[in-house]
Amino acid sequence: MESLPDLTHPLPSLRTIILGTTGQDVRRCEHCAFCAETAGPDQDLSLESVVQLVLLNDEDVLTCRTVWSDRALASARHACARGLNMEEVLLALRGEARRRGLIPSANL
Ligand code: SF4
Repeated sequence: MESLPDLTHPLPSLRTIILGTTGQDVRRCEHCAFCAETAGPDQDLSLESVVQLVLLNDEDVLTCRTVWSDRALASARHACARGLNMEEVLLALRGEARRRGLIPSANL
């Protein structure tokens, strides 16, 4: 028989985890698309889409190529017109992926 999930201790939302570990509140994103200018060929999502998935608490964001792209990480700190430090956001997502055992095989 399959065990039921422990609903007494649900995981905090990805937004809450990022806020708690970095102080960055992704709700400040105004969806201006400015950060799309930094997108490279190794990214499957724009940084704006990463933020959107975080706001939706969609765990798929933890394994997207953008989160694990070193090129995206290198340009993320100053990529946001609203001053969100997206480098810290990406690193927090990598950390949460490691905690959940969701590291893409290419990044092991
Ligand atoms: S630049 Fe910043 S505010 Fe604009 S869409 Fe990207 S993350 Fe959101």
